[in-house]
Amino acid sequence: MPTVDIMNSDVSSVFENIKKHHEFFQSVIPLIASENVTSLSVRKALISDFAHRYAEGKVGERYYQGCKYIDEVEALAIKLSKKLFNAEHVNVQPISGVTANLASFFALTDPGDILMALSVPHGGHISHSNFSAAGIRGLTILHHPFDSETMNIDPDKMHELILKENPKVILFGSSVFLFPHPISEAREAADEVGARIVYDGSHVLGLIAGKEFQDPLREGVDVLAGSTHKTFFGPQRGIILTTEELAEKIDKSVFPGIVSNHHLHSLAGYAIAAAEMLAFGKDYARQTVKNAQTLASELYNLGFDVLCENHGFTKSHQVVVDVSSIGGGKNVSDLLEKAGVILNSNLLPWDDVSKSHNPSGIRIGVQEVTRLGMKENEMQVIAEFIYDATIGKKDPMNVRNRVTEFREEFSRVEYSFDRNPAYQLTDIRW
Ligand SMILES: *Cc1c(COP(=O)(O)O)cnc(C)c1O
Repeated sequence: MPTVDIMNSDVSSVFENIKKHHEFFQSVIPLIASENVTSLSVRKALISDFAHRYAEGKVGERYYQGCKYIDEVEALAIKLSKKLFNAEHVNVQPISGVTANLASFFALTDPGDILMALSVPHGGHISHSNFSAAGIRGLTILHHPFDSETMNIDPDKMHELILKENPKVILFGSSVFLFPHPISEAREAADEVGARIVYDGSHVLGLIAGKEFQDPLREGVDVLAGSTHKTFFGPQRGIILTTEELAEKIDKSVFPGIVSNHHLHSLAGYAIAAAEMLAFGKDYARQTVKNAQTLASELYNLGFDVLCENHGFTKSHQVVVDVSSIGGGKNVSDLLEKAGVILNSNLLPWDDVSKSHNPSGIRIGVQEVTRLGMKENEMQVIAEFIYDATIGKKDPMNVRNRVTEFREEFSRVEYSFDRNPAYQLTDIRW
């Protein structure tokens, strides 16, 4: 039997690591394109008693007792989401983006059907591939024709391929995602072959909510699915937005299909984030895209091989850089981590998958630094840090110290209600 002291020190160790992790992330420049920070109001919801409860089924039709306040919060989350995305129907119960995709595949396909999706080197997510969610549903994958010059799906070839191959679902959305996907160009061909269109908006959901990028439900998709924690600054979770026509199919695929309890603390956190999006989403999304475009052109001017210079670099939160001539994505992202700039390496369209250990690219996302209050001037400073630590060959520790000092001014989460004392929850008993 371990002594109480030893167990106590295990607990201390976890808290010690949490503390160090906080200090670390508060002193670096966070540029991972799939992450964000939640407001303190959202974080308080995450440690509430909602975390301990079960609420299977729909609002007002639960399989468990004790759900009356949870019902109020889920009804509010549904109402806010419909308003935010102007959607006929929403399911807020998927517990992640992959779960939302899988539920959509279950609702709209049978095993053996064809799913048209982007390949991973072209930016597709693993859940779109035959070794993940799409494969588990038994789908055959047909890859979208991709143009690496425009970093987008080739609309004419896509149209032809839809008519030729009869996919059951045409899937848009990706993890490397610079420009809006050609939804309206697919709609007519989809109708001709009886295909459904699903848009995996995991990366760009916060931009869609803020009326930037594109509006998939208006451009012709049947289903908009995605994660709620990338550009959408909520807790880690998923969501599906769709039409009245598909509501029942989608709901059944989520529950009892692939979700039982749906993590009620993050549901409450999501509802708060949705309210923040309604209030501040337009400003946040506009600033995010402006920041990405600024960072891209600053990097380009410093000599980096930023993709798509002939197309304005980006219309999303992302910037993609080919760093194959300066050591490759793995080496560059390791070096930048030493300098306090956190981002990830990425395959580029022309990379063979065998290059995964040191792909040609790095992927940068500015949504989190935008939420921390950074604007165009700060993008210029970040570009210089990246330059100094790589092409400029400065000592990474020197850059690290400057990064830490720079971050001190940006320690608060903006675009939130955090400063309103009504959300402090001081009267809750834990
Ligand atoms: C991140 C991502 C997902 C997965 O989301 P999780 O919430 O991590 O399950 C799905 N699709 C795309 C395009 C993504 O980028």
